[in-house]
Amino acid sequence: MNKTRPPLDILLCAPRGFCAGVDRAIQIVELALKTYGAPVYVRHEIVHNKFVVEGLKAKGAIFVEELDEIPQTSQPVIFSAHGVPKSVPEDAKAKNFFYLDATCPLVSKVHKEAVLHDRRGHEVLLIGHAGHPEVIGTMGQLADKVVTLIETVEDVESLEPKDPDNLAWITQTTLSVDDTADIVAALQRRFPNIKGPNKDDICYATTNRQEAVKRVAPRADVMIVVGAPNSSNSKRLREVGERAGCRQSILLQRATDIDWDSLGDISSVAITAGASAPEILVEEVIDAFSTHYDVTVEVITIAQEDMVFNIPRELREAAIAKGVLEAGPIAEPVK
Ligand code: SF4
Repeated sequence: MNKTRPPLDILLCAPRGFCAGVDRAIQIVELALKTYGAPVYVRHEIVHNKFVVEGLKAKGAIFVEELDEIPQTSQPVIFSAHGVPKSVPEDAKAKNFFYLDATCPLVSKVHKEAVLHDRRGHEVLLIGHAGHPEVIGTMGQLADKVVTLIETVEDVESLEPKDPDNLAWITQTTLSVDDTADIVAALQRRFPNIKGPNKDDICYATTNRQEAVKRVAPRADVMIVVGAPNSSNSKRLREVGERAGCRQSILLQRATDIDWDSLGDISSVAITAGASAPEILVEEVIDAFSTHYDVTVEVITIAQEDMVFNIPRELREAAIAKGVLEAGPIAEPVK
């Protein structure tokens, strides 16, 4: 052991990293490649992680932003885990594409809430971040301009609904639990008759990862969130770490992004990963710290997760028929 390395406690948050929706989306692309051969086309990054996307590209996936970029083909076209506006499957049908939908079932649940509220005649408010693909997909479940986006408490204060007694709210699944609670409280204060889910639509994975960071961050000098800069839940984890009192809360994609000089004099580091970041990248970060410090790793677990989502029936049946998936259990446990 190199005695010159200073000691460092690594506090590893659990749960961290892949959620059931991400695991399912990646399984869909991989299984589609095995079943139908390359290429398969994927609209938007299947999940927001460059490492995952590059790995799938190497296996034969072609990523596009819009269906117009795909030539006429009988190969599968897959929609990302974030969900798509209704117009996208309609367009795919019009183009005669064979498509598979990897939208996370927890995002689909929010889509259904939007449609149901609209059918009941409620004006729908979506709490979320402008421009995020999930928000574009959820707003696109209803006609243009029917859903109003609420990003802040200030948006609630300046809202001028058609009928203040006939409103309903839904949320993006990967928001800050605390910020959303403030926005919901403001909505309920201004519009006491507003309808909504029991608590919010933030998913179990987002909630658990934020809760773990809240628990661990006050014990650490630095919080490291492994995740992509365009990953909503990863960005929220970094903010939660900062608010929980960490001197530095850093979002990085790979161990090579660590700026060792800027870490300063530290004795503890908390590490977590966004829901789209694979565990191998967390291991890479731990290994990198091990080369600079004499590390001790402590895992802090705040919840057990056993959520598993089934892959689309059409793909499962084709994969079984092709012999690349065994008949029997319809979903693999999330690793
Ligand atoms: Fe689904 Fe939540 Fe994972 Fe998004 S973060 S894919 S909503 S489980």
